[in-house]
Amino acid sequence: MKNFTVGPVQSSQEVCSIGAEQVPYFRTAEFSDVMLENEKLIKKFAKAPEDARAVFLTGSGTAGMEAAVMNTLTVNDKVLIVNGGAFGQRFVRLCQIHNIPYSEIVMETGKALKPEHLMPYERKGYTAFLVNVHETSTGVHYDMNLISEFCERNHMFLIVDAISSFLADDFDMASLKVNVMITSSQKALACPPGISILVLDKKAIEKIEAGSTSCMYFDLKDALKNGERGQTPFTPAVGTLRQINCRLNAIENMGGVQEEISRIADLAQDFRKKIKELPFEIISESMSNAVTPLHPTTASAYDIFITLKDEYDIWICPNGGKLKDYVLRVGHIGALTKEDNDSLIQALKDMQKRGLI
Ligand SMILES: *Cc1c(COP(=O)(O)O)cnc(C)c1O
Repeated sequence: MKNFTVGPVQSSQEVCSIGAEQVPYFRTAEFSDVMLENEKLIKKFAKAPEDARAVFLTGSGTAGMEAAVMNTLTVNDKVLIVNGGAFGQRFVRLCQIHNIPYSEIVMETGKALKPEHLMPYERKGYTAFLVNVHETSTGVHYDMNLISEFCERNHMFLIVDAISSFLADDFDMASLKVNVMITSSQKALACPPGISILVLDKKAIEKIEAGSTSCMYFDLKDALKNGERGQTPFTPAVGTLRQINCRLNAIENMGGVQEEISRIADLAQDFRKKIKELPFEIISESMSNAVTPLHPTTASAYDIFITLKDEYDIWICPNGGKLKDYVLRVGHIGALTKEDNDSLIQALKDMQKRGLI
């Protein structure tokens, strides 16, 4: 199988071999060292301020989104959400469930965020901003400088879901003045799913310490306190955290986060150049390096996904809902190479020869 989906993605051989080992007991100095190093490297790669903290929750990326909403927002907030697809909608749903007042900026499929989208919300008393920097469902990457300046001007608390963008696109938490950054294990971190990571700046930590959460498992106060000694309140996905440690160190040893971002950018550019020969249109005005969203002009997107999976053993990402036949997505994250891009292009050319696209 070759996996070009947007997660879970292919892991390196090194990461896979840790998955084959026995899972060790974790209330030990050895595991604490692993966790403290994970925190240090995540902060470094997110370019977080020195006094920021990173916490590791056992749960998929959505667990991190929900924990951020529950621990830093209240019924007294007035939140602005960029809703450009399935993941923006998830923040909307979370605010509804937790009774947090919100307005949403509904984006048209594939469109970039522009100053005119934000203009109506200037000086209207909004207190917090929620955005998925890369709306993975449609492959749109939003302008973080625009968002950061808007939030600073309006004194808004900024929560960024960078789940599918972290390690694939430039991101500087400190200079963008992001208060909470969320990511998870199964996207560009290229580990199995199961761990969600929150990087919290000083302001976010203060909010968490001052607030209260009516939930035990997602209480970040508890997570922060345990994290001081490299531990978690409950049994975490120990094996996945060891795989994350291996992967973070591999990135560091191969030259650091900028190297990894350029490697993924290079793969994305290679694919985008090669796909031009085939009947697909790129539907996003502003792409992340992580994903290329494609509209096939001669066949159903979903049918292409099925044929590639069943007849070529190549997995790309289908879309759900109203985009099912319209969009498919090719990921560039995980252990992939330009030769893998060639195999995918070859398979599509073969489908073209067979009259399937
Ligand atoms: C993958 C992803 C998530 C997390 O989804 P889970 O299935 O909970 O891991 C959240 N936001 C974005 C933008 C994503 O790409």
